[in-house]
Amino acid sequence: MPFNVVIDREGCISCCNCHTNCPDVFELSSEDGRSQIKKEFRQLYNDLKKGVVPDSFEECVSFAEDSCPVSIIHVTKLS
Ligand code: SF4
Repeated sequence: MPFNVVIDREGCISCCNCHTNCPDVFELSSEDGRSQIKKEFRQLYNDLKKGVVPDSFEECVSFAEDSCPVSIIHVTKLS
C-alpha cells in the first residue's frame, strides 16, 4: 500500500540526513537548499513537499522520518 510523505520544508535545517539515508525519495533543492520530494513521487510536479511513495520505500522513509533532527518529515499510511 502506498503512503503519504510530507516535509514541512520551512523548518528544514539542511542537515542532509533524509537524502543521505533515503536518496530514492528525498533530495536537496538546488533552489533553496532544503529537502524536497523527488519528482517521480510528488503528488503535483511543483509541490516539493508532498509525495505518494510505494511501500517498497517504507523502511528508508521511516528511517528518514526518525532521523530528522527537527521532526518535519511526516508519514501517513493510505487506507
Ligand atoms: S532530515 Fe530533516 S532537517 Fe535534515 S535535510 Fe531532511 S528534512 Fe531537512
